[in-house]
Amino acid sequence: MTGSQSREPALKAYEGLFFQGELGGTADGSKPLPQILGQRFFYFMGLKTSMRENKRSRRTLKGVQTMAKAAKKDDRRIIRIFDTTLRDGEQAPGNSMNIEEKLRIAKQLQKLNVDVIEAGFPIASDGDFEAVKKIAQTIKGPEIAGLCRSSEKDIDRAWEALKYAGEKGRIHTFIATSDIHMKYKLQMEPDKVLAAAVKAVKRAASYTPNVEFSCEDAVRTRLPFLAEVVEAVIAAGATTVNIPDTVGYTIPFEYFNIIKYLKDNVPNIDKAIISVHCHNDLGLSVANSIAAIQAGAGQVECTINGIGERAGNCSLEEFVMILKTRGDILPFATNIVTEQLTPASRLLTTVTGIAVQPNKSIVGANAFAHEAGIHQHGMLMEKTTYEIMTPESVGLSASAIVLGKHSGHHALRKRLVELGHDLDDEKFRRTFDRFKELADLKKEIFDEDLDAIVSDEIREEDQYKLDHVTVTCGSFAVATATVQMEINGVTVRTAELGDGPVDSTFKAIKKLTKSKAKLTQYNVGSITGGTDAQGEVTVRVTEGSHAVVGKGASTDIIVASAKAYIHALNRLSNKQKRLTDVI
Ligand SMILES: [Zn+2]
Repeated sequence: MTGSQSREPALKAYEGLFFQGELGGTADGSKPLPQILGQRFFYFMGLKTSMRENKRSRRTLKGVQTMAKAAKKDDRRIIRIFDTTLRDGEQAPGNSMNIEEKLRIAKQLQKLNVDVIEAGFPIASDGDFEAVKKIAQTIKGPEIAGLCRSSEKDIDRAWEALKYAGEKGRIHTFIATSDIHMKYKLQMEPDKVLAAAVKAVKRAASYTPNVEFSCEDAVRTRLPFLAEVVEAVIAAGATTVNIPDTVGYTIPFEYFNIIKYLKDNVPNIDKAIISVHCHNDLGLSVANSIAAIQAGAGQVECTINGIGERAGNCSLEEFVMILKTRGDILPFATNIVTEQLTPASRLLTTVTGIAVQPNKSIVGANAFAHEAGIHQHGMLMEKTTYEIMTPESVGLSASAIVLGKHSGHHALRKRLVELGHDLDDEKFRRTFDRFKELADLKKEIFDEDLDAIVSDEIREEDQYKLDHVTVTCGSFAVATATVQMEINGVTVRTAELGDGPVDSTFKAIKKLTKSKAKLTQYNVGSITGGTDAQGEVTVRVTEGSHAVVGKGASTDIIVASAKAYIHALNRLSNKQKRLTDVI
């Protein structure tokens, strides 16, 4: 089909339609993507396109207005939020977490009210398995998913961990479907891939009716084959089918049409929820996810702060706030408690040690800072002159100064909970003691100070612990560090000379731990202003292909450095060899 014949169907008012185009070649479904997409797309974002398209634009605009009216009614389609911070996010370099850290994030995801938590990749390592199991046992509310390849062994292992979530356990299995992946990675013919997918879904469905199947690299998969796989896995029992942009390659109108193609060409598509999983290699993961729900997708996979493989995943906070802020024109909603977005972002930063860029949408330090004079003037007159959403709506509280020397247990506990730190009694006691120590040194304790204290105090009893560090240095002295540590419960001590206090301290730690890791980055910053501020040190160390980040905070910069280095070495030793399959 070409020309005017295909125009009418393309103008059909799909939910939230912004993208119009001529869908040449959809009738027999046999043409590869470029032909199917046709040549005369235009991209409509509420702006007029060319004069030639004026007539069509007017019609589309009318469609948008009708849709906007619909959006005002309380009939928005709920988009399910599938959070993969603990799987895709955690796989990214520097983001590795131990079981306890994963559990803390999972508890915050529960407060956010996500629909699904992907807790890990159970067969990847014993640590991953235990984390998925623990989360499945502990978290109530969201469904708990575990990733597995399309092999019986993977699926069985995943269910062993997920079964503790009962009917909320979801097996998420996948296989690659693009020609390039099938040929070079799997070295399998398409019919074998199709058979493996069906077999895997049947196996998963024998454990639970809650089965998600992903066509890895779906965006670069031939559409007719993609449709064939999707139809077959739904028939085999998949209740969610994921169409990931594994390599972050697609753009909104193309992705819209892939989802639409499946809606139009897979006969049993209504028996499953279409999920999307976008990577941000070209900076389009959020835009692509929006395009996909406009085409009919019902679940979006995303992560806190957009962390994930390479350039990351669709950012949960951005996607959710787009739907909330543009409810006038997007007839969708989520179940997310948006006031928990900032606490979630901060908690993840605290746990991983990786900060978000200051200008990051929604959760960056400057996202709600209106510093330019003209903006401030406008803001004082009327907030909405420049503010499209309130800081409160994303859980950013107005006051920065929180506590001082005389603040008690109750005030500290309350503030910690507001910041996303829900500690057990033992950890709270340690945090409180440390808070009191700091309050003696420093007049005002800020949120950032609390984040740093918690991040130091909540760590598991790891292999290496710092007892003491003493350094002598100065313009006439050769820097000498004496370090005492506890390694697997045994106290050890040594002294080393070095080129400055940090160098000698690190040399001593390296000697005691017999570590072969290389220090690749060392940053020191102050958590808040003033000379009494806590110093925060971030280090990055690598060993082989593993890279980890360690963080330490103290009013003494050398102590902070030692803590950060030991934190990183602990993480490195916790990191086991893992499978690195991705979707
Ligand atoms: Zn991914």
